[in-house]
Amino acid sequence: MKRIGIMTSGGDAPGMNAAVRAVTRKAEHEGLEAYGINYGFAGLLAGDIFKIDSRTADDIINRGGTILYSARFPEFAEEPVQLKGIEQLKKFGIDAIIVIGGDGSYHGALRLNEHGFNAVGLPGTIDNDIPFTDFTIGFDTALNTAVDAMDKLRDTAASHERTFVVEVMGRNAGDIAMWAAVASAAEDVIIPEKDFDVAEVAAKLKSSRARGQKHAIIVLAEGVMSAAEFAKKLEPYGDFQLRATTLGHVQRGGVPTAFDRVLASRMGVYAVELLMQDKGGVAIGIQNNKLVQHNMLDLFDSKHEADMDLYKVAKDLAF
Ligand code: ATP
Repeated sequence: MKRIGIMTSGGDAPGMNAAVRAVTRKAEHEGLEAYGINYGFAGLLAGDIFKIDSRTADDIINRGGTILYSARFPEFAEEPVQLKGIEQLKKFGIDAIIVIGGDGSYHGALRLNEHGFNAVGLPGTIDNDIPFTDFTIGFDTALNTAVDAMDKLRDTAASHERTFVVEVMGRNAGDIAMWAAVASAAEDVIIPEKDFDVAEVAAKLKSSRARGQKHAIIVLAEGVMSAAEFAKKLEPYGDFQLRATTLGHVQRGGVPTAFDRVLASRMGVYAVELLMQDKGGVAIGIQNNKLVQHNMLDLFDSKHEADMDLYKVAKDLAF
């Protein structure tokens, strides 16, 4: 193996650039070459590919987003399109590929692997919803952005004795919601993995109001419903001075935290090492602070599990 292609695909996440840098530098360190593929699988097909060296990868570890851009390209599920992608890889002399993205991107990577190009996946998504990894690249930064927003919302909630329903991202996973709820001392948290009862939420708000706490923050994962819908359901139960806030895409951007930079760097180095051992069709994760690799096919058969111990902590502290 001489040339490694690298792309970012699916939703962008802070820390993707740190992974691109790590792959580039590790490749150079090992006497290999790295080739950046812009716009994910769309760019692969278009031949939007360039030699990336440690100069290009300088000063990107602290930048959010992805210098390789990202795109959705559903056409890559079709075999003739995949074969054209393979032609592009051959044209540029690329013999192995690293894909940073979510499980959709892993499907694309596996197709390339099946066509004889070792492909390794790195989990790049703020949602933390990929199986076989405790953390995904971008989750920690998004979480910190959400907590920062909650701290600000609490100031205004306290000043006007309001209840804020704050909707955070996470797709169908409640990870951002649970972590943010604990870190921001939220009065309640609602996640897709657990049923909820609006009457119970209202009763809790009433009892904390009776104890003198007149403002509240309820963290709501987007996979449940929108903040506006939830506020509407809560409204008939009492005068809570409700306000609904959706944090939205602000959670996807920003300077990556040190944790995300280090995680992405470790994973990037490990990905190159696996390719050097002629491994492919695997997704990298981190479990108990150890880097791990799992067969992508096993990953597709699995589901990310919510940490219900953390959910219990959030609930125990929010009474
Ligand atoms: P996120 O979790 O942020 O949405 P993702 O990687 O799951 O990231 P998707 O939009 O599902 O995002 O997939 C990204 C890209 O991967 C798609 O636009 C497409 O190019 C490719 N892809 C997805 N599914 C497949 C598939 N079944 N076969 C081949 N390629 C696929």
